[in-house]
Amino acid sequence: MGYLDNNGTTKPLQRVIDAMRQALEHSYGNPSSAHRMGQDARRVLEAARATIAASLGAEHPSELVFTSGGTESINLMFALLADPAHRQIVISAVEHSAVIDAAHRWGGGRRVIEIPVDEAGRLNLDELAKVLRGARSLVSMVYANNETGVIFDLPAIQRLCATHGASLHIDAVQAPGRIPVHLSEMGADMVSLSAHKFHGPKGIGALYVKAGSVHAAPLLPGHQEGELRGGTENLPGIVGMAEAASELPVSLEAMGRVSQIRDDLERELTRRIPGVVINGHRARRLPQTSNISFLNRNAADLVARLARRDFSVSAGAACASGKKPSHVIRAMTHSDERANSSVRLSLSRFTTANEVERAVSTIVEVYAATLPAVVR
Ligand code: PLP
Repeated sequence: MGYLDNNGTTKPLQRVIDAMRQALEHSYGNPSSAHRMGQDARRVLEAARATIAASLGAEHPSELVFTSGGTESINLMFALLADPAHRQIVISAVEHSAVIDAAHRWGGGRRVIEIPVDEAGRLNLDELAKVLRGARSLVSMVYANNETGVIFDLPAIQRLCATHGASLHIDAVQAPGRIPVHLSEMGADMVSLSAHKFHGPKGIGALYVKAGSVHAAPLLPGHQEGELRGGTENLPGIVGMAEAASELPVSLEAMGRVSQIRDDLERELTRRIPGVVINGHRARRLPQTSNISFLNRNAADLVARLARRDFSVSAGAACASGKKPSHVIRAMTHSDERANSSVRLSLSRFTTANEVERAVSTIVEVYAATLPAVVR
């Protein structure tokens, strides 16, 4: 068995599970209640918020609004950040579908402009500058791409937004534990986060909201979360997220070893399989992500065959896996062949060299078993 789909989701840490069970058993008061059980739960909640803020470099815990995960944070951001002065929404051509869908759903009829990337997946900054010069914009950019791991040049994006008076949201869902994240130094108005990508539980995330950046009403009205997100807080989830956030330095430290295993994997696959192309900038990407096109093969087919051999990998984003060719690889390469054949292998601090060696042998076998009828 091998699990190489950590950009899809990660294994929760044991301490996350233990803390969540503890919260479910003992901190079940409603944090909004005035009685002792409620106030105890409130203290647990605020301690967790402070831990997450400290781990991710927010200046103040109140800048974090808990949501049900990355998708909700992104949707909430569009609701809160958009103001009538924004004439257009500017995203990249390689955003997660959560951003693309939310931009159209909550854009209020504004034009949604997609900035192209180059073949290595890097944002075309000249094009961004040109578009921002045209009109006041709300910009949403992914920090580290979920399919290729390519890391955008955040300081350059931030400078352009500041120069042209644009608001900036960063989708940092894939970053924590893989590259350093310091919320207050990102220069963004809002940042989206999701716990299940860094060994926390699913269904919990946060939107970092810089003071003064809220222009409009929330999606879910209510008095909780500074009136920015109504509904009784998911205390076990929040506690689990805090436990996972506390261990981010441990994950980060492991990334040196993990990137070596990832590089070995790419070297071996390139050596043993003809027609293997690595997608994305080799240096400017997450240390644990590999995106590979197996030319002349169908990615969904390869993924299904690997799944039958108990290896979990994915074609494109987990939520789009196998349904359609990757819009990310297509935007980078303008090649249907590269997009149709791209497979994502994503590692974590728990991935071992042995697991990756077995993955390579299995991929080589599966690849051979799917040889086209006419061997060229
Ligand atoms: N943004 C990116 C870059 C992602 O990779 C994901 C999840 O795959 C999301 C947003 C959505 O996050 P969630 O699964 O917590 O809704």
